[in-house]
Amino acid sequence: MVDAIDVLGVAASECDECEGAGTVTFCHGPYERTRECHACYGAGRRTPCPGCTDGTSPNTGETCWTCEGFAVLS
Ligand SMILES: [Zn+2]
Ligand SMILES: [Zn+2]
Repeated sequence: MVDAIDVLGVAASECDECEGAGTVTFCHGPYERTRECHACYGAGRRTPCPGCTDGTSPNTGETCWTCEGFAVLS
């Protein structure tokens, strides 16, 4: 993950998917399982990449250098 402070100068806000935990709990049959939050990649905070929407540069189609392909900054 790329740190939002390095790109935007401000910290990313708390991830609303995992409420800042970086992991989410889900039920798998009778078991409670925990997995890494897919929205923030386990960082617990995120902000959309200012340079792309899906991790690829809209101009070149190559991996976005701003977010290194994550589409979000941490
Ligand atoms: Zn999250
Ligand atoms: Zn990007």
